[in-house]
Amino acid sequence: MVSFSSEVKEEIGKNISPARHCQIAELAAVLSACGRLKQNENGEHFLHFQTENEALARKCFTLLKKTFNIDVVMKTGKSPYLKKGNIYVIEVSDQEKVRKVLQGTKLVDEGSRMSELTMFSKPIVTQKVCCKRAFIRGAFLAAGSISDPEKGYHFEIVCAERRKAEQIQGLIQCFDIDAKIVVRNKSHVVYVKEGAQIVELLAVMEANVSLMNLENIRIVKEMRNSVNRKVNCETANIHKTVNAAVRQVEDIRLVEEKIGLENLNEGLAEIAELRLKYPEATLKELGMMLCPQVGKSGVNHRLRKLSELAKDLRRRKEENLL
Ligand SMILES: [Zn+2]
Repeated sequence: MVSFSSEVKEEIGKNISPARHCQIAELAAVLSACGRLKQNENGEHFLHFQTENEALARKCFTLLKKTFNIDVVMKTGKSPYLKKGNIYVIEVSDQEKVRKVLQGTKLVDEGSRMSELTMFSKPIVTQKVCCKRAFIRGAFLAAGSISDPEKGYHFEIVCAERRKAEQIQGLIQCFDIDAKIVVRNKSHVVYVKEGAQIVELLAVMEANVSLMNLENIRIVKEMRNSVNRKVNCETANIHKTVNAAVRQVEDIRLVEEKIGLENLNEGLAEIAELRLKYPEATLKELGMMLCPQVGKSGVNHRLRKLSELAKDLRRRKEENLL
């Protein structure tokens, strides 16, 4: 079965933003997460990008082509980690092109030397709101996951460095979504744990099909919970009614034994007999059996009188014993 995470990535992977600024922002996020600068034997730096996610590999390939008009060769091999599945490698080795990509994505300042490069994207690529969305999308595609909503709500993006995590956290917070950071196995993990906020995040990333799917699951879950709550509540009420009725029957039996129901006034005698006959009836039902009918509070009043009588009898019995 395909995981929800893969579904979201599949959807996001296909979605290529038409605007160049957004393409650059997304590529910056992808390279910041999965790209590496390696050095060849001549001391030249080349861009190395590697992933096991096909949607991500395709996206990186397309963005390099669209944004910088760079044709790259995508190498495919067998994953050393996964039983099934491939590993996708993209490399840019032409020095001019490497510089073009890194400067374009603001992963390096113009004029700075390659050896000073760190793969950290400058805030200038995420100034526009549309570019913020694109950056979050790219970061999720490259290093994120979402748990199966049937099991729980958890969204996360794993970052190698604190400042990268803080950058993504800041961008997510721009959309009023409460992202937090936790350190796990030396990684800095940006996460969101609340269902409604994860829905918001899917909207931010423009994963609309996944959003609908998640919403449907949330609705079904919510309904299931509310039905359970209602059943629990009704069960509690039934218990309450039954307990009250059991007490009433005990009280009436005592009155019957010590005083005799025939010695009660007509109203009390009537309700006492009905209660003994119908121990499971509600107050309302008992009231409707009377002629003329009596409301719930009237029935309650009479039953309380009977209970007071019984209480009195018990007290007297105790006093006699003492
Ligand atoms: Zn944009």
